Amino acid sequence: MIREREPGRGKGRNGNGANEQVHCSFCGRSAQEVNSMIAGPNAFICDRCIKTSWEILRKEVSNPQPQGERIPEKPFQPRLVSPKAIRDSLDQYVVGQEIAKKSLAVAVYNHYKRIDSHEIKHEFDDVVIEKSNILLIGPTGTGKTLLAQTLANLLEVPFSIVDATSLTEAGYVGDDVETILARLLHAADFNLERAERGIIYVDEIDKIARKSANVSITRDVSGEGVQQALLKILEGAVVGVPPKGGRKHPEQQLVNINTKNILFICGGAFEGLDRLIARRVSKSSMGFGAKVKTSHIGYDPEILKLVIQDDLHEYGLIPEFIGRLPVISTLDMLDEKALRNILVEPKNAITKQYKKLFEMDGVELEFTEEALDKVVKIALERGTGARALRSVLENVMIDIMFEIPSMKNTLSCRITADTIERKSLPEYFTDEGKKKKIA
Ligand code: ADP
Repeated sequence: MIREREPGRGKGRNGNGANEQVHCSFCGRSAQEVNSMIAGPNAFICDRCIKTSWEILRKEVSNPQPQGERIPEKPFQPRLVSPKAIRDSLDQYVVGQEIAKKSLAVAVYNHYKRIDSHEIKHEFDDVVIEKSNILLIGPTGTGKTLLAQTLANLLEVPFSIVDATSLTEAGYVGDDVETILARLLHAADFNLERAERGIIYVDEIDKIARKSANVSITRDVSGEGVQQALLKILEGAVVGVPPKGGRKHPEQQLVNINTKNILFICGGAFEGLDRLIARRVSKSSMGFGAKVKTSHIGYDPEILKLVIQDDLHEYGLIPEFIGRLPVISTLDMLDEKALRNILVEPKNAITKQYKKLFEMDGVELEFTEEALDKVVKIALERGTGARALRSVLENVMIDIMFEIPSMKNTLSCRITADTIERKSLPEYFTDEGKKKKIA
């Protein structure tokens, strides 16, 4: 039998004390924190959980799943998706960066076609398709990691991220490059076949540039040494990998991973590279009347688009290493409009994430247009691309998310520009549509 309990009264969950609080068996809220609580034989449910359950049921009724259809198990064979379809999928998550999306889509498509070509016999059997590892050049917070991550999700292949600055040449303090592969194996749930078709994103690749153009007396173990060590796994080699990673378990058996079909995407900000390019371009165009700006401040995406391998060599990457990253793509700076889109457009845009979190508490969340503009303005000043959007919003939302679950009768919450600037609290509304006064 089901009956309604007066908030704050009645037996507790274990049913043995008159003074004990009643709690919702689903969300754990006490009767004091909700409007009403329904009691079943051995359980309670609050009005908020009833509302959430009703929403779920309503969606299922309007969107029925076909009977008897089971979700297929994830295949280890990457899905061969056309470059256009890859770009379209990237569009759902990544704002702008059209050039990078296009070159990634083609490179990834060719990469997985190349894997297929090992298995199918055809006319061009003596033609070897080379591996198309990718180098992404762009400032921090412009979507390099997001692009790589979204690609891996789309293709349903294991994915791991490694920071190049944590690596050192074997035998020195720091991680050996083999640990990169250990992480991928981990991401593939130790399924070797899946790992061998995965994607690895190596971040901050510009930080392992040779420290200086001159041959130094001391060994450059975190710069050129790491580039040398990365060469063999980028190209394709069988590498003995400690499955648990690191050197702490010398007794563990090594797993042999073939890196031939692993796609490497390297990314870095390459600060100052645009100046090197501008200098080269202006030198080569001297006498032809062309004028190239050589002194500019900050990141210049137009000049970066002219990057060639020689520039990367001058920057401090060794030629063999550059040779293993045949696809080079540059990313744009994110301007005001792009940042504004990032807040609301992508499938998992940050404001959508907050709205979902609030919805689970039965509260509708709204951001005014001015509030969003304010977030963008503050983020732009920080100069860390879209990365700043999350930190600006998180700072504001943390207090609100702390309060909301225990605020009775609150049905909606409106974030204004003043809330973002910490000048006032958000506007809360009760079920009668009245503005709620918060002391
Ligand atoms: P990077 O690797 O270039 O330093 P990330 O890809 O890690 O930057 O992005 C940092 C954060 O900003 C992530 O939360 C990501 O979702 C968001 N972001 C960055 N660029 C974009 C973009 N172009 N579109 C959508 N979100 C982005």
